[in-house]
This record gives sequence, C-alpha cells and structure tokens, in this order.
Amino acid sequence: MLIVLSGPSGVGKGTVRQAMLAGNYRDFQYSVSMTTRQKRPGEVDGVDYYFRTKEEFEHEIATGGMLEYAQYVGNYYGTPLKYVNQTLDRGKDVLLEIEVKGAMQVREKCPDGVFIFLTPPDLSALRSRLAGRGTEDEATIDSRIKKAATEIAMMENYDYAVVNDKVNLAVRRIERIIESEHLRVPRV
Ligand code: 5GP
Repeated sequence: MLIVLSGPSGVGKGTVRQAMLAGNYRDFQYSVSMTTRQKRPGEVDGVDYYFRTKEEFEHEIATGGMLEYAQYVGNYYGTPLKYVNQTLDRGKDVLLEIEVKGAMQVREKCPDGVFIFLTPPDLSALRSRLAGRGTEDEATIDSRIKKAATEIAMMENYDYAVVNDKVNLAVRRIERIIESEHLRVPRV
C-alpha cells in the first residue's frame, strides 16, 4: 500500500512523519525524498533526503527516475521511483511525505494509494462553523476563510483529513487509517 501524507505548508508534515518513524507502529518503509536544497545542520544524506545538485536532479527527471517532483521555495523536491516500486513489490507499505503538487501527481499515477491530508486545527474549527452554525461575524473571519478556502479545496482531492492539533494524536489517527485500509474487503 502506498500512503501519501501531504497538506498545506507549515502544517507540520515533517514533524508528524518523524514521530511516525520514531513510534511503535513501524510496519511501513519511509521513502527518502531527493532535493536540491541545502542540507540543514544535523541532516544526513540518504536519511533525511538525498541531497543532489540541480543538474543531478534534472537528470533524474529526464531519465524517468522520479515518481513525482515539484519546485518549492526555489528548490526541487521529489520521490525516487525505484525505491517505491521495489518496496511495494516486496509487499511492504511505503510512506511518502510530500507537498500538495507532488501528491496530486501521485494521485494520477497511483489511484489506489491512500491519500491523507494533514490540516491545521483552526481549519477544522472553521470547517465546522461553515458546516453548521453560521453565527460568526463574517468580517472577522474573512481573511481566514480565504486562506482556508484554498486549503479546503485541496483537501477534496484526498481520502482522509487528519487534524494536526497534537503530534501524537495525529500519528494515532494516521495509524488507525493504515490499519483500517488493510482490513478493507478487496473489490473485484
Ligand atoms: P523541507 O525543506 O522543510 O524539508 O520541505 C519543504 C517541503 O517539501 C515540505 O512541504 C515537504 O513536505 C516537501 N517535500 C519533501 N519531500 C518531498 C518530495 O519528495 N516531493 C514533494 N513534492 N515534496 C516534498
């Protein structure tokens, strides 16, 4: 099973991914991404990312080596195809943690994947307001609605929305999704 964890910028995808890797539920393999951005202190090549030059990255794109890729704040980020295929072939789950443009490319190529959208807590609060009460002063929440509207529009392309209010809670929700997906009755 291919599990794609994505969501808006700044929602804490990386933190949730790291907590999943450090947690007890380790029945999946994390696909290390490739990037052209500078290594940050403490990051290790091949563990956090494969740190590559722009030329090397573009060569991978040109030779069909990437499952997906996107430019984010002036750098390339992408998922090497080979590791994903090899791991899925061995019958293991693969976890990708990627931004939304890349996730939509994966959705096209791997419609059977499980697509999880991590949302900020205020977005879910806003969602319930929009859904039900309608008592809020619209002017006060207008700018938040605008930002949230783009995020909600993105969410519609996913299978699950997980609120990242507390990291350990978000991790538990994701683990439950994975477990439930494994219990699905196969459609023929
Ligand atoms: P950072 O530079 O903070 O590690 O990551 C920046 C953004 O790139 C984050 O939103 C992260 O989810 C995203 N990202 C990391 N790896 C990949 C990848 O392989 N593909 C895509 N499309 N985005 C990625």
